[in-house]
Amino acid sequence: MSRFLPEEFIEEVRGINEISDVISEYIHLEPKGKNLFGLCPFHSEKTPSFSVDPTRQIYHCFGCGQGGNVFTFIMGLEKLDFVDAVKFLADRKGIDLPSSPRWAGNEDFVERSQLLMDINREAALFYHDRLFSPEGEGALNYLRSRGLSKATIKAFGLGYAPDAWEVTKNFLTEKGFKEQDLADAGLTVDRNGRVYDRFRNRIIYPIIDHRDRVLGFGGRVMDDAIPKYMNSPESQVFKKNSILFGLNLAIKQRPIHSLIIVEGYMDVIALYQSGFYNAVASLGTALTANHAKLMRRYTPDIFIAYDGDTAGQAATVRSLDVLRGAGCNVKVIRFPNGMDPDDALRSQGTEYFSKLIQKAAPLIEFKLEHLLSEYDLDDQEQKVDYATKAANILLKVENPLERDVYIQRLNKITGFKPELLYRLITQIENRTKQQGLKRKIIGNNRHTMGIKHPSSKVSLSIKAEEDLLRLMMMGKKYATDILAMLEDLEFEDSTHVKVITIIRDLLAGGIEPNPASILNYIEDDQERSKVLDIFRLEIEYDNVDRYILDCIKELRRSQLERQGRDLKEQILRLNNAGSSDSDEYMELVEKLRATTLKTKLGRFGKEEVM
Ligand SMILES: [Zn+2]
Repeated sequence: MSRFLPEEFIEEVRGINEISDVISEYIHLEPKGKNLFGLCPFHSEKTPSFSVDPTRQIYHCFGCGQGGNVFTFIMGLEKLDFVDAVKFLADRKGIDLPSSPRWAGNEDFVERSQLLMDINREAALFYHDRLFSPEGEGALNYLRSRGLSKATIKAFGLGYAPDAWEVTKNFLTEKGFKEQDLADAGLTVDRNGRVYDRFRNRIIYPIIDHRDRVLGFGGRVMDDAIPKYMNSPESQVFKKNSILFGLNLAIKQRPIHSLIIVEGYMDVIALYQSGFYNAVASLGTALTANHAKLMRRYTPDIFIAYDGDTAGQAATVRSLDVLRGAGCNVKVIRFPNGMDPDDALRSQGTEYFSKLIQKAAPLIEFKLEHLLSEYDLDDQEQKVDYATKAANILLKVENPLERDVYIQRLNKITGFKPELLYRLITQIENRTKQQGLKRKIIGNNRHTMGIKHPSSKVSLSIKAEEDLLRLMMMGKKYATDILAMLEDLEFEDSTHVKVITIIRDLLAGGIEPNPASILNYIEDDQERSKVLDIFRLEIEYDNVDRYILDCIKELRRSQLERQGRDLKEQILRLNNAGSSDSDEYMELVEKLRATTLKTKLGRFGKEEVM
């Protein structure tokens, strides 16, 4: 995780900003039991379901599921990124940002980032000036021919990189920047010792982040030269998977009702030119969870407006899930005949585009439509397949009226009677429930291990992992001891693995692990709420030490079981390959026998695990 501030400082700032004090400055909190409750600031509600837990220094909303520590709260409400939230809270308590020598390494990093951004800013101004100079005439004409006004060109700071090898380099070195720094900013290329400008004879799109910092550049040719588009290489400050082109301008419009995500720079600029100031684009990469979270910070309502061609539609399907995962309400703007937003605006005009926005398809509708495009309904078999897949999509629609609308539509498309479609959905639903039930029964039968099991949905070993993580929050000593006891044992759940790695790192840095600090390192929203759920729950036990041993035992048992399963698979494979008389086969069978025996006898000593 790239951070501009030292961990100890972050921890200090978190420690002195008592979470209920901070939150009380935004909403009214009233004590109820051990926690405090208030009206959630992240969703609208009439009865308080937003709880603050002063012991663990975390908050959680039972209504919308938002939760986190004091930093995520400030990030959400003040619309700040992590580093700025830390600075905000440091400022709240009147403490200075780290400047003592012990932060030297990080300070270098901050200074270096600042230097690269300064260089980029100077370069952007240079390119922009060139656009309006005689040598930029062709480029300017090109932009005008695409319908861009001077105001739009200025708003985006568009520029022109001259058709020469060293002008940008010379301009910047004369400003006092070192050649090496220009190279690090990605502005020059070194070919066998010859250093020259990366961008030549191209229209330049400065890539500016939501805090108005110039992080890199995109360059586009005006003829048929290749590559058509060229971006700055990734640098210390330029990270493609977390920057959205146009976001700096989109968020200057208040209030922000929604954001439109498009495929390219030109789409963003064309929309802006037509008065749609809320468009953003990722930089030629697929939409990532980072992008989604960045947008979600400003508004949950996102429109996807990717090109109408096959590639655009495939990207739409992928992005839908990413955005949903970040808690966004997503709708899809559909363009006729493979058009893109720029085409639609230029050929049909602004009003037409507004209509397309109004008619944007909600998630389910789009998914059903997209699914339809993959099937040939004249083929009976494919029709059944389509209806079954569609029923699976409709499972997720909770509102019965809404579900009915889709069922009626499905009926029209497929000809299957609505009653039949309803029955299909119920069938799938029941099957899913039964599978859940089966897991529950298995869970209950294993109750003999001494681990109490409040939510029987998870397997016992997963529960043991969760409980161990909770127990590690009892203090440094417990955390260290449990880590030592785990030794060769590996957690099964990937989030749990991540949490335990964080705990190990915190301990190594001399920081006592606690839920609020751990949350600093969990960037994914879904994962964060999973971690919050772990730490919010109390565990019941009679004797801590015995309980820890029970959990470890359970992990050992489950590891043996997994090993047994693996062995069985290998044996089966050899069997199928006709090698059941090989030495390897006999060895595996012997191992399996021993493993099964150990599992049965409940002898879970480490040395006995093969
Ligand atoms: Zn809420």
